Amino acid sequence: MPELPEVETARRTLRPVIGRRVAGVLVLRPQAVRTHSAPALARALRGKRIRGLERRGKNLLIALDGLVLRFHFKLWGTVRLHPHPLVGDKETAVIVSFTDGSVLEFRELQLSELGVHRAAEVTRILAVAELGPDPFAASFTRTPFERQLRRARGAVKNVLTDQRRFAGIGNLWAHEILHRARIAPSRPLDSLRPAERRALYNAMRAVLREAVRLGGEPEFVDADGRQGRFPLAVYGRDGQPCPRDGAPVRKGRLGGRPSFWCATCQH
Ligand SMILES: [Zn+2]
Repeated sequence: MPELPEVETARRTLRPVIGRRVAGVLVLRPQAVRTHSAPALARALRGKRIRGLERRGKNLLIALDGLVLRFHFKLWGTVRLHPHPLVGDKETAVIVSFTDGSVLEFRELQLSELGVHRAAEVTRILAVAELGPDPFAASFTRTPFERQLRRARGAVKNVLTDQRRFAGIGNLWAHEILHRARIAPSRPLDSLRPAERRALYNAMRAVLREAVRLGGEPEFVDADGRQGRFPLAVYGRDGQPCPRDGAPVRKGRLGGRPSFWCATCQH
């Protein structure tokens, strides 16, 4: 499931579309579009120019004149930018063509949410989600971090993945952050010593920064078709050696989701 680093990578690699004007929209999987019928979507977007790209948590927001195309990957999904017109294949859901001949392709959408809204509507949708601060933002210093932890309780992994506290961190990156911080995913938040809270903050910032720089996790594909290059330390690596000490990575369940950690260096 794409999380903050992957959505941010998608946003950055999509930047060349800013300024391009929509010539047409081809919907191959109408069920992928939540807000419009195929002809209505084409009518709404035709002639509009892309003005900007934003990320809010795991939402990718593409601003057009007066409208916002909101994309949430959910379980999977790929957004590709092609310099030439495209026919599409059985995985292609929507093709947005620009007047310069280039195209934006949404593919492998499965459960993804794609919709076009007025700007005020998007604000409302995001308000309902009650997204917490963005842990990747420059303004996310230790003060807002501590504020988000203050009233939280339970296992530290479950707190990290609560979108109302840290928008954009999901099960994969929570485990990578905790391994970096040497903290076990099941540790109760209120048992963390001050030095461990500091380590957690530093690990969160460092892991997210590296993850974005390396294009996300290895299965993710960016707008240019390039795969993520972040070497995962624990997530999905049960039985394989911990990169820090060689001990086998363990797997369990926590909060109804798979959990991965090294019992030698995480406590
Ligand atoms: Zn280890």
